[in-house]
Amino acid sequence: MKLDHTRIPHSILVVEDEEDIVNLLVFHLEREGYRVQSCSSGTSGLQHALEDLPDLIILDIMLPEMDGLQVCRRLRSNPKTQTIPIMILSARREELDKVLGLELGADDYMVKPFSVRELVARVRAMLRRLDPGIPSKETTRDDEAVLVLGDICLYPERHQVLVRGEVCELTHKEFALLNLLMANAGKVLTRDVLLQRVWGYETEIDTRTVDVHIRYLRRKVEEDPAHPCYIETIRGVGYRFARAESLKP
Ligand code: CA
Repeated sequence: MKLDHTRIPHSILVVEDEEDIVNLLVFHLEREGYRVQSCSSGTSGLQHALEDLPDLIILDIMLPEMDGLQVCRRLRSNPKTQTIPIMILSARREELDKVLGLELGADDYMVKPFSVRELVARVRAMLRRLDPGIPSKETTRDDEAVLVLGDICLYPERHQVLVRGEVCELTHKEFALLNLLMANAGKVLTRDVLLQRVWGYETEIDTRTVDVHIRYLRRKVEEDPAHPCYIETIRGVGYRFARAESLKP
């Protein structure tokens, strides 16, 4: 008998103190078939997340008791919650620079006022990436797909990256970016292409987001992030992962 995994509803935790926004999100997300819980303060949101381990968290920055940045940091530092996708809500674009600048590891963000339709579409895309699906066959280590370039090994199925033999912790977005760049090694990918393929929807986010994520990725995989040898910047165009033959063995 086959289990129909698509029928298990994903659970979403909304942490937001503005009642109107909570009601709007709950209404639209439940209509999509998700199970939705909400908390109106940072502390209750954090507690709820740790107890219930939702599949995804929508987190506002401005919250009573403990702000969303602190909540995000705590979630990311706890092994139980560190891989739960987080979408940050913010009233001001400037706050987002702080969010990204602090490398809190949020997976996505939206600036208020946002389009609920777009938010729901992004949530759907984030949750889809979570579902590994049912494997079609047993994969053994021998036939497991792996991308090896220089001293970076990327295992698409395991969602794991080894850099110089060490496990490298990447966020979902960083992993997707690296995967795409490595799979296209030697080719220039424009910022627009990267946005579309990694973020996965028609977006109004400016392409600077790509630059920010590339910067974090370089810090994690390059030996000297100031002089990257893997991820090259092609000025005015985009990025390119170096060809295998140009990397030292
Ligand atoms: Ca708020």
